Amino acid sequence: MLRYDLHSHSTWSDGLLAPAAVVQRAAARGVDVYALTDHDDTGGIAEAAAAARDTAMTFIPGAELSVSWESHTIHVIALQIDPANAILDAGLAEIRSGRDARAHRIAASLTDAGIPGAYEGARSFVTSDRLISRSHFARFLVGQGHARTMKDVFRRYLTQGKPGYVSHAWATLPQAVSWIHTAGGQAVLAHPGRYRVTATGMRRLLGEFRDAGGDGIEVLSSSHTPAQFAEYATYARVFGLLASTGSDYHGPGESWMDLGDLPALPAGVTPVWAQW
Ligand code: AMP
Ligand code: MN
Ligand code: MN
Ligand code: MN
Repeated sequence: MLRYDLHSHSTWSDGLLAPAAVVQRAAARGVDVYALTDHDDTGGIAEAAAAARDTAMTFIPGAELSVSWESHTIHVIALQIDPANAILDAGLAEIRSGRDARAHRIAASLTDAGIPGAYEGARSFVTSDRLISRSHFARFLVGQGHARTMKDVFRRYLTQGKPGYVSHAWATLPQAVSWIHTAGGQAVLAHPGRYRVTATGMRRLLGEFRDAGGDGIEVLSSSHTPAQFAEYATYARVFGLLASTGSDYHGPGESWMDLGDLPALPAGVTPVWAQW
């Protein structure tokens, strides 16, 4: 049976490894089918695809789109996209365009909490001049001793109700799904178990996602517990959505799970790769 890992990051967004290095690591860890899914950017795909040609691995071009839904930020994974598609490219540029002003607002909020210099501090961790993210602030805060680990930092800063959190308007759900479809891809709701919604809210989210044309959900994710693997397999069946799997790997020493570490999909779901 093939090993799939369809969610990971490189230095083109908030990952620690360059695209070729992530590809080589995935191959070395026994991944057979691998997707690079950088936040709001497809810039790393050419390098990753070239590196994958030197391995036995099948490479899937992807991205992870930031979306605002009700009061929540949710993420939509794009798989099998044409990275040269102009409509998707413009959509991603539009999502990225608000990030720098947001970063200044994050820094102002941290200044108010007694932590000055966070914008410049976060910038020093940025690896792509196209994108600054909360991960870069998190690395700065860990570096300054405000938290011990990446997990720890998001418990105390940068999340709703905590210093360094600011609300932000990303793309809408219908926009994200339509850009992905225009580029020939499939839209997959990332790590649904991470969103702070009630059971009713989750059903509303999955219903709206499906009605917008969404194709699948991540059943397996490093953000999910084994109980959530089963829970989201049931949601996938009930809502008629395909099932995906991805480690959401960001780099050595930072991620909950390494590339290729997830188990096989539970029985009874249709994999997102069924028609590939
Ligand atoms: P942004 O897109 O700028 O909002 O940054 C979001 C990124 O922050 C996510 O993709 C993760 O890499 C990271 N992140 C968010 N929450 C956590 C968390 N609880 N633990 C570790 N990393 C997190
Ligand atoms: Mn990330
Ligand atoms: Mn995500
Ligand atoms: Mn991710």
